[in-house]
Amino acid sequence: MTKSNFFLADETATLNFGRQLTAHLTPGLVIFLHGDLGAGKTTLVRGVLRGLHYDGRVKSPTYTLVESYQASSLYLYHFDLYRFNDEREWLDAGFNELFNTDNVCLVEWPERAGKLLPPADVDIYLAEQGEGRSVIVASEKIAPDKLQAP
Ligand code: ADP
Ligand code: MG
Repeated sequence: MTKSNFFLADETATLNFGRQLTAHLTPGLVIFLHGDLGAGKTTLVRGVLRGLHYDGRVKSPTYTLVESYQASSLYLYHFDLYRFNDEREWLDAGFNELFNTDNVCLVEWPERAGKLLPPADVDIYLAEQGEGRSVIVASEKIAPDKLQAP
């Protein structure tokens, strides 16, 4: 397990850090985004999508649980499980099947789905630090030590 730690001074830094991650995305990758409300998880996903040249709106999937995107020949599913409460509904909707070898899945609040999710390939931890945010990237699959401070 390799880990790297960076400081993101402002929203632009978070967006740029997300952009940088696009170089490491491959179909099938599962990324968990950890951190409190307001930590910058959705902002980071927005940066990823901007990095893939997706110009449309990137809205928080708080109520819908998931938003899907197709950009730069990748299929991306952005989950926000903050309001997740119904395991049955999750299974009936087929959300589990979206975690397959074709798709990149980015998941906010993965702990809310308990054991329903597959293990993550990349764990990203965001937290407030002064006026900015700290970010830790931990992974065995991508090389976090190859990432750079934004
Ligand atoms: P989350 O999805 O974790 O709840 P958001 O991505 O919605 O958080 O971001 C919450 C707020 O934090 C937004 O107003 C965003 O502009 C701000 N923000 C994001 N990154 C940073 C940063 N590095 N420094 C300061 N504010 C940030
Ligand atoms: Mg969010």
